Amino acid sequence: MKYRVYSLRNFRKIDQVQKYLSDGEKHAIEVVGNVLPFKVNNYVIDELIDWSDIPNDPLFQLTFPQRGMLSDDHFARMESVLRRSPGKAEIAAVANEIRFELNPHPAGQQDNVPELDGVKLTGIQHKYRETLLFFPSNGQTCHAYCTFCFRWPQFVGMDEMKFAMRETELLTAYLQEHPEVSDVLFTGGDPMVMSAKNFSNYIDPLLAADIESLRTIRIGTKSLSYWPYKFLTDKDADDMLRLFEKIVKSGRHLALMAHFNHPNELKTEAVQKAVRRILGTGAQIRTQSPVMKYINDDSAAWTEMWREQLKLGCIPYYMFVARDTGAQNYFAVELDKAWRIYREGVKRVSGIGRTVRGPSMSADPGKVHILGVTDVNNEKVFVLQFIQGRNPDWVYKPFFARYDPDAVWLDDLEPAFDKDEFFFDQGVDGDAVLVH
Ligand SMILES: *Cc1c(COP(=O)(O)O)cnc(C)c1O
Ligand code: SF4
Repeated sequence: MKYRVYSLRNFRKIDQVQKYLSDGEKHAIEVVGNVLPFKVNNYVIDELIDWSDIPNDPLFQLTFPQRGMLSDDHFARMESVLRRSPGKAEIAAVANEIRFELNPHPAGQQDNVPELDGVKLTGIQHKYRETLLFFPSNGQTCHAYCTFCFRWPQFVGMDEMKFAMRETELLTAYLQEHPEVSDVLFTGGDPMVMSAKNFSNYIDPLLAADIESLRTIRIGTKSLSYWPYKFLTDKDADDMLRLFEKIVKSGRHLALMAHFNHPNELKTEAVQKAVRRILGTGAQIRTQSPVMKYINDDSAAWTEMWREQLKLGCIPYYMFVARDTGAQNYFAVELDKAWRIYREGVKRVSGIGRTVRGPSMSADPGKVHILGVTDVNNEKVFVLQFIQGRNPDWVYKPFFARYDPDAVWLDDLEPAFDKDEFFFDQGVDGDAVLVH
């Protein structure tokens, strides 16, 4: 299958756009797409989106900019600039003004950059003790862009996340100095936009360094959903699978952390074949997604998604709450509702699907898991815990927040029982593993 990519520049040429979208919808794409990233490909257009159900189709909502993703004020500002048919620089200036008002850097993502001998490793994030995030410079784009993406500032050129040739050397040196790290998670963007050759330039030296404490290599990817031909008909598809086998043969666990947001992404022949080929290498596939209005704010969609995944041999892993950035207002689901969706959804799968944890917020202090809503001493509360914490000792200690039906993020929550603060509000204490 030949890969064809569309963006703001050429989306009006897409047959289905011409046939199914109104002028108003195309205009909205133009305005919103000048602020938030927009990229889609022929597989998503031809095989995933149901064009008879526009604009409600979840895959359309997932990949095409929608009017409601900007506030009226932001929309009007961009619209009025475009109306004056200005130069690129002027559009970019207004776009950036708006982008800075969309909380481009939530959860202190840029605070977790480690150092080695005084050199900042800007392609690495080390927030939780056991797991290092690695951003290979060749993997900082995706086969299509999700409208909810929390990495969106990278794709519109606000953030530079590049570092030069020696990156694998620095990664291995860091791992050698940090035996507490058992997992390296290749992330992006999507590392599976890389050719097998490029990916081997990272993997081969890493395996050759023979670091005993490195037990798991994970690859965060949306490629199974947006471009399964990566593992089927792309010219280096077989080479990529050989590389997976090589990782497994090194005695390590290889896990694809696959992003799937809706059951429709699991139904094509291409994705099912790709999953089978990947599992055939000895790799495992774990799945994760945020819960989002317009896309999957419905427990039946989750049940169906988890059932499909289980049938294919994938392991449901996380349900997230959409982060407080970009178009969050559009997609936001109340924490209370997210928990109900999780509970209703998970009740209908057997124990092998109940490996999925959530809903979980990746916030500044850590991954905060909403365990449920209950009453304690006549006060209605959220019961929460950390799945991951800046301080590893915070993990799995239940704590309570006052019930608030409108809360959509950790910042909206107050401690229960008239306490002044949460136990973690004091910050990280002495024995925490921080990397500065
Ligand atoms: C989720 C996450 C990880 C991985 O956590 P696991 O619970 O091990 O899957 C690592 N680093 C960051 C910053 C994360 O958000
Ligand atoms: S695949 Fe991941 S990084 Fe890429 S646009 Fe979607 S959410 Fe963002």
